Amino acid sequence: MMSHAKRAEIFNKNEAKVNWHDKALWYVREKRDTAAHHVKGWEYLRELASGIKANVLSNLDTYLVEFEKNAQSNGIEVHWASNAEEHNKIVYKILTQNKASKVVKSKSMLTEECHLNPYLESKGIEVIDTDLGERIVQLAKEPPSHIVLPAIHKTKEEIDVLFQEHLGTKPSNGDPQYLTNEARKHLRDKFLQADVAITGVNFAIAETGGFVVCTNEGNSDMGVHLSKVHIASMGIEKIIPKEEHLGVFLRLLARSATGQPITTYSSHYNKPAQGNVMHIIIVDNGRTEQLSREDFRSSLSCIRCGACMNTCPIYRRSGGYSYNATIPGPIGSILSPGMDMKKHSSLPFASTLCGSCTNVCPVKINIHEQLYKWRQIITKEQKQPLVKKTILKITGMVLAKPKLYAVLGISIRWVLKYAPRFMVYSKLNAWGKSREFPEIENGNFDQWYKKRKNNG
Ligand code: SF4
Repeated sequence: MMSHAKRAEIFNKNEAKVNWHDKALWYVREKRDTAAHHVKGWEYLRELASGIKANVLSNLDTYLVEFEKNAQSNGIEVHWASNAEEHNKIVYKILTQNKASKVVKSKSMLTEECHLNPYLESKGIEVIDTDLGERIVQLAKEPPSHIVLPAIHKTKEEIDVLFQEHLGTKPSNGDPQYLTNEARKHLRDKFLQADVAITGVNFAIAETGGFVVCTNEGNSDMGVHLSKVHIASMGIEKIIPKEEHLGVFLRLLARSATGQPITTYSSHYNKPAQGNVMHIIIVDNGRTEQLSREDFRSSLSCIRCGACMNTCPIYRRSGGYSYNATIPGPIGSILSPGMDMKKHSSLPFASTLCGSCTNVCPVKINIHEQLYKWRQIITKEQKQPLVKKTILKITGMVLAKPKLYAVLGISIRWVLKYAPRFMVYSKLNAWGKSREFPEIENGNFDQWYKKRKNNG
């Protein structure tokens, strides 16, 4: 199993792309800061959102049943899925009942998590992702690398080539206007041919039984209004108690995600249009287990804004694929070990623990503290790579013996200063692969401190 560091190495091979990826995401982070600073009481909003979500997580059973009851009385069919497999089977059953063979889907990280597309494709169903970024990665046969900006790892020139190959477009030197127009035309046809529209759910309101989907392209509305059948997939944690709480989350979501005051479309779905059917599938898939973990339960408050990814120095310079998980970045590194600790044991270590993720999170999840908690658990359970475990053991021994530490310090300083460059910057020195060591001092900190003290 490849660790995060090994996968990051693949992304890091293209230094120009890494720099560009880093810059692009930092630009989004800065837009988020500007947008947040324009809202008076931003911190109060975050506090409020965090409180509402904490209430939801403490009373999830009650709210879910209330939501189900109200949705049903609105004429929506409600289904429950305990895992991804059940979710996919329910979707397929609905498609079969409606003799559907063509599906349009707006962005839904849950359906990514359930691997719905390959499942339906294996049954002969055409599934078209209609969010532009999602469609780009779908054409490239790649998963999304970011939860809000799924194709952020692709340059416009790469998209140009991709569209020429799949949509028959003309070479345009990566002209975004031309490429977007061509994608729009292509997607219009798909919307018109679709039998069923699948959407995600950003917020499901217990009080009304309705739900809200946020998009910037209107693709959710387009799909739903042109299809007779609408299937909405939601995780159990998407509930909010009342309609009045929507204002809190809608104000936070878009500003945190892209720096916009609001997403272009906040589509409210309350009941099927006359003659149509609407289904909601409520999915657990490991969430109840995460809820039972006291230290990690608040990770379920996540509203998937992506701000923690945009600000994370590791994510920005290692790319979304280095996490090998549906949800990458800091929040993904908390959620993924809960699903499969062995597979994702390297993720909580892919962090500087600088706390920037926690600072930007609109629902105030203590992300870096939870990453630190996972590190403790993983270390205790011995789920670390052998090399890392051995190095940490030796380091622990050295740090426990001051004399040994001092002697080693002298030797290492000597080696760094006088050994030939090829030895110091050998393959064993991962740190020095793309960095120079600072100038090596003659003594250690202790000596420096004493000298300074004596000199007054
Ligand atoms: S953890 Fe917070 S910052 Fe990260 S995606 Fe979720 S809501 Fe956004």
